[in-house]
Amino acid sequence: MSILTINSRDKSLQAVADKVKNGERLSIQDGLALYESNDLLTIGQLADYVNQQKNGDNVYFIQNMYINPTNVCEASCKFCGFRRDLGEEGAYTMSMDELLHYVETRFHPGVREFHIVGGHNQHMAFDYYLDTVRTLKRAYPDVAIKAYTGAEIEFFSRIAGISFRDVLEELIKAGLDTMPGGGAEILTERYREKMSPEKASTDDWLRAHRTAHELGLKTHATMLYGSIETLEERLIHMERVRQLQDETGGFLVFIPLAVQPKKVTAGVKRRTSAIDDLKTMAISRLMLDNFPHVKAYFINIGTQLTQVSLTMGTSDVHGTLIEERISHAAGALTQQALTVDELVWLIKGAGKKALERDTFYNIIKEH
Ligand code: SF4
Repeated sequence: MSILTINSRDKSLQAVADKVKNGERLSIQDGLALYESNDLLTIGQLADYVNQQKNGDNVYFIQNMYINPTNVCEASCKFCGFRRDLGEEGAYTMSMDELLHYVETRFHPGVREFHIVGGHNQHMAFDYYLDTVRTLKRAYPDVAIKAYTGAEIEFFSRIAGISFRDVLEELIKAGLDTMPGGGAEILTERYREKMSPEKASTDDWLRAHRTAHELGLKTHATMLYGSIETLEERLIHMERVRQLQDETGGFLVFIPLAVQPKKVTAGVKRRTSAIDDLKTMAISRLMLDNFPHVKAYFINIGTQLTQVSLTMGTSDVHGTLIEERISHAAGALTQQALTVDELVWLIKGAGKKALERDTFYNIIKEH
């Protein structure tokens, strides 16, 4: 058990540190005090204390593969460089044969999760999306299918004219094992009206995950930070997923995603700073007392910062991915994938235990 001794020059942190020490839940005001403090080392130390109690020195990763069946999208989120209109140069929608070919040419036997997200292509029926899951499950029955965000569930419900529950039941019948956490961006209406007005509302996103949890699925939650949102909105976002986690216990992990700056419409003048990234991961760890893990997403923040974050509250470095497209279309400068060796090097370099996991955090192997 790690011992927490705080000796910060920032006295406003002391009250928050006392709450952390006593295992008390932090409020939005506490979160703001953390964001407003310049004492990164103390914030990191607090987050590390909480993470040590939950995970010790364990750090997890998975061998997974990203698949984006279409980039045609009815929405036009301001931060998105991935979407295309139908017929636009670079627009694509994979047929089932193309999908299988895409996977076959990249697959290796270590892969145990397909991570599937894409555009909201209104020119395809809900059956198309069901087919993607069904086709992959049939061809790769041992690989977990992590498919379609809460925003996509809302989109499917609209195009098929059926409830969220019916959408999810159909997907589960087709082979869905879990839902990724995307589409959450920032869960406030002010943000969504400005940044992704055509996409699922805050309530829709939460309802999609609540329904999935009721149907027995475990799911993921993200937060896309670094554009027009206020610090308070980030904390409201965290509070909303924390409330749902209190209700259902269905989230596996929280993943802060630094927004990428390529699209001028995103209103992002420059990349998020290293300090903001580390603080946001640490504050997520401190606010989300009911989440088992906070994940560092190397695609958006780079491997070096990912490694440092392992000493400030994170306990997961995601996975091998094989080919990331969405963040790179938005301007990510990082590698599109990492090998197992690279992930293990990164974890061990932080003095942690490198644990290869499956989708549900069962340990496959200690490296
Ligand atoms: S983020 Fe997703 S929903 Fe928004 S425009 Fe891009 S592909 Fe479409």
